[in-house]
Amino acid sequence: MGVMGGTFDPIHHGHLVAASEVANEFGLDEVIFVPTGNPWQKEGKTVSPAEDRYLMTVIATASNPRFSVSRVDVDREKSTYTVDTLRDLRSQHPNAELYFITGADALESILTWQNWEELFELAKFVGVSRPGFELGVEHLAKHLRSLPADTLTLMEIPALAISSTDCRRRAGENRPVWYLVPDGVVQYISKRNLYRPRGAQRLDGS
Ligand code: ATP
Ligand code: MG
Repeated sequence: MGVMGGTFDPIHHGHLVAASEVANEFGLDEVIFVPTGNPWQKEGKTVSPAEDRYLMTVIATASNPRFSVSRVDVDREKSTYTVDTLRDLRSQHPNAELYFITGADALESILTWQNWEELFELAKFVGVSRPGFELGVEHLAKHLRSLPADTLTLMEIPALAISSTDCRRRAGENRPVWYLVPDGVVQYISKRNLYRPRGAQRLDGS
């Protein structure tokens, strides 16, 4: 079972390709997308409500029978730490082998994640390439040496230079996000008026 954690603000095709490629390479039965919880401050910036990010993730993954979305992080009161995500999924799926999927950028900071030693006991890790980031494990080598060889696998995937940050910026400037995110997500962003400056928000809150 793959686990694709993320803020998904919004979910885009880079996330979906990463999940699909890892699922195919490792013959996974399912990939569970796990949007981070609320309240959540990312680099000092507020992100969209968890419910909007959860729904966009559902919309984006609905057509793939092997993709599902978990609310474990959305429903947890405290901030999201991957170790909690994996503990929860582990207890929900005690017999599954978990593969945590992470982009090259997130992999760089893995040693700063909470309880990272335990992370490697809860799941195998797959680091995927991402344009603009080096896909390397030199910084982890010392720690990985004592762990089984399949603890962390690196994988090249088709390069999609897409980020949620760029999608938010585009939406905020009335530039297109078509083809960067699934069609249903483009429509959801517009319907909920996400990523627009405060003044541009609809008064009825819809
Ligand atoms: P933001 O710009 O807000 O940080 P993001 O595009 O990085 O958004 P996240 O939700 O932060 O998206 O990322 C979730 C996971 O998906 C991370 O492991 C990240 O490295 C990975 N990821 C995101 N975009 C890509 C991409 N284009 N290619 C490969 N992996 C990606
Ligand atoms: Mg990111």
